[in-house]
Parts: sequence; C-alpha cells; structure tokens
Amino acid sequence: MASLFVFNTPILNSPHGVMLMPLLPNALASVLPTAFDADQRYSVDLHMHSTASDGALSPTDLVTLCAGRGLTHMALTDHDTMEGVEEASRAAQQAGLCLVPGCELSTRWQGINIHVVALMPGGLQGPMIEGLEQQREARIKRAEVIAERLEKMGLPNALEKARAQAGGDRPLGRPDFARALVAEGVVADWAGAFKRYLGSGKKGDVKAHWPEISEAVGWVVASGGVAVLAHPLRYGLTRRKCGLLMDTFMEAGGQGVELVSGQQNPDATRDLARQLVERELYASLGSDFHFPGSHAAPGSMSPVPRTAAPPIWQHPRLAHLRDAPSGMLGAKPLNKLS
Ligand SMILES: [Zn+2]
Ligand SMILES: [Zn+2]
Repeated sequence: MASLFVFNTPILNSPHGVMLMPLLPNALASVLPTAFDADQRYSVDLHMHSTASDGALSPTDLVTLCAGRGLTHMALTDHDTMEGVEEASRAAQQAGLCLVPGCELSTRWQGINIHVVALMPGGLQGPMIEGLEQQREARIKRAEVIAERLEKMGLPNALEKARAQAGGDRPLGRPDFARALVAEGVVADWAGAFKRYLGSGKKGDVKAHWPEISEAVGWVVASGGVAVLAHPLRYGLTRRKCGLLMDTFMEAGGQGVELVSGQQNPDATRDLARQLVERELYASLGSDFHFPGSHAAPGSMSPVPRTAAPPIWQHPRLAHLRDAPSGMLGAKPLNKLS
C-alpha cells in the first residue's frame, strides 16, 4: 500500500525553514468540496492571528484550539509577519491539521487601510521577504512616532515601557502603548488609553506608511502565493466603491476575496457572492480570530451560501489543500461542520 502514496515535495525551503505538510497524490478522495453547496459551514479557517502579531494564543495553542474545534484546514495569517508559521507548522503536523502558511498585509487604497491575506503555500520566499521587512520597518517607525508623542504628553520612556508590555521583539502597536499607559497609571484602563491618547483622531493615532494595495498584491503573486482581499464588508464602503476596490485588486493580480469573514449578514454575503461570480474571483473564508472569548472562534464563520464562485482551495496554487486527505494526516474525515 505504501507505494500508492507518492509524496509531492513534502518540504519547501525558506529562509526560516518553513515546512509544509506532506502532500499526497490525487488518487485519494478530496477532503474539501470543489464547490460551495447550500448554506454550509466548512472545517476550514483561512484567516487567524497568533502572538506573532496581535493574537492572544501562541501558534501552538492556536493549532490545538483549531484541532479541538474539528478544523481540518487552517491558515495562520498574522499581521505583516510569518514569524509564527514555523511553530504552527510543527504543531499542525502533530495535530494532523493541514496548515497554509500566510500573513495579512496592511495596504492603502484611496487613502483607506485595506488588508490583504497572503496565502503562501511555498512559505516565505521571493519578493515577500523584502516586502515583510518593509512592513516591519513601517511598524517600527510608527511606534517611534507614537512614543515621541506620548512622551510629550507625559509618559517618559514610552518606547521602553511599551516594549516591556509586549515581550519578545515584534514591532510595537497601539495596544502595547495602551497597556503601558495603564501600567503607569496614566489612565485607568485600556478604553481610557484609546479615548484620550491612541484612538482615532488622537495624538497617538499615527498612520503607518503602508504600500499601495497593488504593490502588496504584486509581492504575493510573484512569491508563489494567492492574494485574498480580506473582509471587504468591513471597510464601510458603498457597493460601488467596494466594486472598484475589487477591480483594482484584480488588476494587480489578486485572486480571491473573503466571501465570509466572521459573522455576516446573509443578504450581504449573497450579494458579495454575486460580485465575485461576475469578476470570476475565488471565494475564501475565515474567522479573523484574535483571542478566545470573542465572537469569532476558529471556524465559527457564518455559513457560506450556494455560489458559483469557486472555493479558494480550487486555485491551482493551493491544490495541496484540496487534495490533502485528512485520514492520512490524522484529522477528522468530515468536510462540513454542523
Ligand atoms: Zn484585517
Ligand atoms: Zn485579521
């Protein structure tokens, strides 16, 4: 029997030694459906965060939670970093889950912050290496400006204090400064920190210099990845403007859109599905999970409606997702969550 299982490139190299799950031949039944049926939930979550960015769980704990919730396929998509992928990959192999390396890129379009999920089946490689370095520097510069402003407003050594709150050496974000403000007794709580110092329009609300969406999509595509427009219904755009965003994204080489992101209104989802079909875009789904206790647990998205938009795992670059047989990997054989 063993000779039936011919492995396709089980390990792909990257500067960080990112490893993929072993890939198995098409002879075995697909775990994932080739089309979206009636309103269904699937054991797939392609948008989640860990402590490598602003999530609460370590990559290992996140994988354990996903396995416990019956997921068979997951992507780790931390903000502008793939630092957590190596650890998640090891945990996924142990748990018998199929893991797609990825990240969520911060970009700009018409002055609006737009997120692009990069699904990187080959790991971190190509122009993405420099792209993520550029994102890291943008975050570091922003943190320096936030710190300068907070120092002028009465929080001395703001950068060191935020660093102490963050632990590790990831770039600092506003939540780290909020924790520092609370720890120093400048404000009573997190909400106060945002209300007075860090929230929209306040001094500490410093905009980072993110790349244009077309540039970021270019990194993904040129690095063997699949670019997915993240949560299109969460930018507060009109239908027409959202359509323009999708057009720009496609012109740059973007291939998929998150049809379902966490909990969504079913009518809005169906309308979005129509827009994807019109443009021949692939449909992805993800919870955008950050921390336990929030409404968006891994795999807990709204149902996916019946649509002619193909699932993102039908994209040739993600064929290993579609064909990874859960039996061999030890995951649950079900492809739908009830
Ligand atoms: Zn996002
Ligand atoms: Zn996210």
